[in-house]
Amino acid sequence: MIMASNAQERERTAVEQRHVLNKVTSRLGANLYALTNEARQYVNTGDPSYRIVYRRELADLGSVEDRIRHIGDAGASASELNSLKEAVHWADTLHDEQAAALAAYEEGNEAQARRILFGAEYERELDRVEVLIGRFQDQLDRRTGEKVRDATESAKLWKTASEIVLGLTGFLFLCVLYFVFRQRVLRPVVKLSDVVSRLAAQDYAVEPPELKQIDEIGDMAQAIRVFRENGLERQRLAAERDADRTIRDLLSRMTQRMQGCDTLDDMTGVIRRFVPEIAPDRAGRLYLIDKRRNALVEICNWMDPGHSEPEFPPSACWALRRGLPHRPSGGNVDVPCPHLGLEGEELPNTLCLPLTAQRETLGLLYFETRADQPADHLTAEIYLHMLAENISLALANLGLRDALHEMAMADPLTGLSNRRQLDIVLEKRLVGAGHIDGPLSCLMIDVDHFKRFNDVFGHDAGDAVLREVGKVLRGHTREPELAFRYGGEEFLLLLPGLDAERAADRAEDIRKHVGDLRISHSGEELGVISVSIGVASVPEHCEIDRLVQTADAALLYAKAHGRDRVEVSATRKGDRASAKARAIV
Ligand code: GH3
Ligand code: MG
Ligand code: MG
Repeated sequence: MIMASNAQERERTAVEQRHVLNKVTSRLGANLYALTNEARQYVNTGDPSYRIVYRRELADLGSVEDRIRHIGDAGASASELNSLKEAVHWADTLHDEQAAALAAYEEGNEAQARRILFGAEYERELDRVEVLIGRFQDQLDRRTGEKVRDATESAKLWKTASEIVLGLTGFLFLCVLYFVFRQRVLRPVVKLSDVVSRLAAQDYAVEPPELKQIDEIGDMAQAIRVFRENGLERQRLAAERDADRTIRDLLSRMTQRMQGCDTLDDMTGVIRRFVPEIAPDRAGRLYLIDKRRNALVEICNWMDPGHSEPEFPPSACWALRRGLPHRPSGGNVDVPCPHLGLEGEELPNTLCLPLTAQRETLGLLYFETRADQPADHLTAEIYLHMLAENISLALANLGLRDALHEMAMADPLTGLSNRRQLDIVLEKRLVGAGHIDGPLSCLMIDVDHFKRFNDVFGHDAGDAVLREVGKVLRGHTREPELAFRYGGEEFLLLLPGLDAERAADRAEDIRKHVGDLRISHSGEELGVISVSIGVASVPEHCEIDRLVQTADAALLYAKAHGRDRVEVSATRKGDRASAKARAIV
């Protein structure tokens, strides 16, 4: 474009130069004709004003060099100037003739002056000057014409070139614009729209593009990123809520199942099934306290724990010592429990939770984390605490139930098993088993004239007698749960493994022991107590289902034959009638 502009400039300069030279050369001719005219007018009219104008104009012409330089300055070439110079010389010759004519006129030779100015010679010279000026102008025209043509063609060429370049530039600009549009607008918008549709479908795994541009698209990308982060946060919270609900459901189901457990075995089954589901990242052990041995004894474990002894004293656990959860590893540095059994090993991530209910320590829940488990993804400790609480309550319930069971099965006055328990024992333990290993004897014991104690010393005194007799019975068996209060002042003792003879010896011991009792109540001696005892044995005297009745029949016999005595049943299988008869006697 600059080149085109330069060419145009050159064209314009050439045109201007031709114009200036035309003007200058025209003036040259015009001056000559004007001077000729002034001189002729003066000669014709004699008016001096023509002479004055003539002289002034002639003076203004200047020298030949001045005039030529003037034209040379206007851009004429040397050859052109030479031809002009010739014209100017001829013009000067004419000026000389004009001067000669004016001089002749002023000397009064008017005819001479007219001959000079209007003669054929003057006209020829005037024509020659005109032809020379015309030739000069032709030369000029040719040269400037060529120059203008060159400049015009060059300008045209450069214009075309500049137009092509402009077109190419425009095309390039459009390409760049398209590229920029694609890079900066189209591509980000397509990407963002893809991200938005995936986010709308709750696919928060999609990564919004990192657009650093500071414009609306950059703002949009930033907004989408914030939206995604919010979505992720919402998703995380929802997942946490779901996980929390799942764990709480598991905890509640586990609690319900534990409430339905009758035995510790049932309960450990529930614990082993549920705890690994609730805390899948932690192995563990459940310990219960054995008060007799003052030791924590492992009841069950899950997920194969690598540490902690199966049995240890309570003092070996800091959680039990303090009655608080104890976690020696992690952020809060603490002493490891001795029961972990660590010998220079790296401290594992362990947690001891004491199991307590009604201020009584029941046991310990121990957890440990596998070494490859990242600490920040562990089951929240709050669930483990809830777990410990639920297990404690269930254990307490089980213990309470055992106690209630015991209370239901025991006679409150003597602490002996009651008649209901006798039924259960006979039915489940003996009859239910289908067979009995060895003999089984039964002593039916009745306090003689017991009513008298009530009548003479009062009901409480009677109770005291019953309690003492009960103690004697408990002291005469290795299985105190097999000593029963049968009802009122009647007792029953089952003696597995003892035949009738040895049972009778045991009965005799009891009778004597009771006879030796000296009971005082409210400062009063209650006097001698005696019991009558009937003895029956399986299989010697009867089948198991008739054992109590047979012993009872023997007791009746003892009562009937003087009391304070032991009677062994004489009944045999198929001999019940005679036993009855004997008892009635
Ligand atoms: P026998 O020598 O014939 O057995 O005469 P007994 O007086 O021992 O027998 P009887 O059946 O005539 O009386 C039993 C009494 O035991 C009647 C009842 O009031 C009393 N008795 C039953 N249960 C209790 C109790 O729990 N405490 C007290 N103090 N007395 C009881
Ligand atoms: Mg009785
Ligand atoms: Mg009695």
